[in-house]
Formats: sequence, C-alpha cells, structure tokens
Amino acid sequence: MNTNHKLSPRAVVMSKAIGLLILVGLSACQGRNLLATAENPLTKATDLPLEEYLNPIQAESNLLTITPSSQVDPVQTAALTEKWVEMITITVLYDNYPYQEGLETGWGFSAFVTYKDQNVLFDTGASGLILLENMAEMNIKPGDIQNVVLSHEHNDHTGGLQSLLTAGADPIIYLPPSFSSSFKKQFDAQAEVIEVFPGLPIGERISTSGEIGGFPPEQALVIDTSQGLVVITGCAHPGVDKMVLAAKRHFKEDIYLVLGGFHLGNASSTQVDQIITEFRRIGVDHVAPCHCTGDRAIAQFKEAFEDHFIQVGTGTVIEIES
Ligand SMILES: [Zn+2]
Ligand SMILES: [Zn+2]
Repeated sequence: MNTNHKLSPRAVVMSKAIGLLILVGLSACQGRNLLATAENPLTKATDLPLEEYLNPIQAESNLLTITPSSQVDPVQTAALTEKWVEMITITVLYDNYPYQEGLETGWGFSAFVTYKDQNVLFDTGASGLILLENMAEMNIKPGDIQNVVLSHEHNDHTGGLQSLLTAGADPIIYLPPSFSSSFKKQFDAQAEVIEVFPGLPIGERISTSGEIGGFPPEQALVIDTSQGLVVITGCAHPGVDKMVLAAKRHFKEDIYLVLGGFHLGNASSTQVDQIITEFRRIGVDHVAPCHCTGDRAIAQFKEAFEDHFIQVGTGTVIEIES
C-alpha cells in the first residue's frame, strides 16, 4: 500500500461531508436520487434529529447515498466530522453522461475512490484536459493521487494518464499484464508500474480482480464494503457478468453494487435481459451503468432494478458505509 501521499485536508473534509449532507438535506436531491423513493426509509430522515443520523446502529438504512458534491457545506462539515463513520467514496470524474453542472463530459471513464487516507484513480478518461479540469472542479490535485488502476488498454480509459503525470501526479500504476510493451515502457520511465494478479490489494478494502480474459483483457476494481463487494468496470469487454462473477468467486462475498461501463451498446434487448438474469443469479444488489453501457441497456437495467438502479454520470458521488 502506498502511504506516501495524502489527500489534502480540504478534499478529505469534502468527501466526508457528502454523505452527511445528503442525509440532512435529502429532499433537495430526491429528483435525482432513485434510492429516495416513497418506500425508502431515507425519505423520512429529515424529520429526525441530527444525532440519529450519526448513530451507527441507526445508520443501517442509510448505507448508500448519492449526491452532486455542490451541496457540500464546509461549515456544517467541520462541526460534524468528529462523529463521522468512515465512508468509502466513489466519485465519477469522467463519463460521457452528464450529472453535475460545471463538469466536462467526454467519451471515456474515470472514477476516484477514497477510503480513510487512501485513494485510487480508476481509469483516466480519453482527454487529460477534461480529466484535470474535472479534478480541479472537485478539489482533487494531481499530487493527491496515490494509485492509478487502468482497466484496459483503450485510449478512452488511458488517454488522460500522461497529462496527469505531467501535471505532477506520482502514483503507483497498476496494469493488467497484457498491456503492450510500448505502453509499459512509456510509463515505467515515469512512475512505479505494477502488473496485477487476481486479488492484489491496492489499499485497505480496495483490490483488483486481476486480468480477466477478453478482447481486450481487462481488470475491475473491487471494494470490500460492509454491504458486500462494489465492482467498478471500465468497459467490461470480457463481459460484465463474467467480470462480476470472477470477483464474487475470488473474494467469496456478495455483490452490493456494479458501477461503470457494461459494454452493451450493440447488444439486443434479449442479450441485455440475459445479463440482467445472470446478475440476479449472481445476486447483484445495485447497478450503476454508464459510459459504454448503451442508452437502451441502461433503460432496461433501470426498469429491472427499480430503486436499486443508480443513475450516474460525470460528477456523481456515491458514499457507502465501510
Ligand atoms: Zn474499451
Ligand atoms: Zn471505454
């Protein structure tokens, strides 16, 4: 685990604030948050005194929160930080679907994961310019990035890396072994590069699936939460169901959330239904498809998973109790 770099205090405070503020100000984002439906106990949260949200025993129904980070209020945050339960935060930094105003969208994917004082940037999008602009907007400095995990060697996932390093980032870079020798050579010269294997820990609670065979081969990021595994995919070229099943088999835990590109843009509705059936068989609890999933497939997942479907795009922040 790399502990040489730490998030700036401001960034830590910001990430810690997000979940709290969504609980306090939930009614403001109900329009976007499909978890906050009439059946969901979260919708009643605003009637309770603040202390109730912070009680770990009562927190059980508040395990996954989602909000644009623009709702973060640093003053409230400072007052509440001491009582905070450690959260795993996933911020979608780069996607072709919009979510938060003020952020650039573009074809590609990148997600920033934080837990305690550790962080991982999973994929870098296609454009370094967009990546760095969105990071600045979200108060993430290049020097903050401790680890970069690249899902697969396609430019819409690796294209931002060189700009990130040029801007001052000094992360450990985790690659599937099948990456080309020219790619490895380029980045070996600038950073520590590690070829992954199944289950390799990136940090506490954060690991890689290892390389899964496909065209091209690909790795997923796997986060161990109190609710089960979160699997983040880049494009899921090997098959999103195959990747999720590989994570479940390796880590021997249930799947709480699958987020990222599901690569079903050219799939028929019958093929998408087969993936949904397989997700049900595997026991996937929540889905957050984006990037290369395809509009029709996203609509099918939304219909099938109802309030366990999470709409995501550039700027979505998801917090899960560790
Ligand atoms: Zn790809
Ligand atoms: Zn892609």
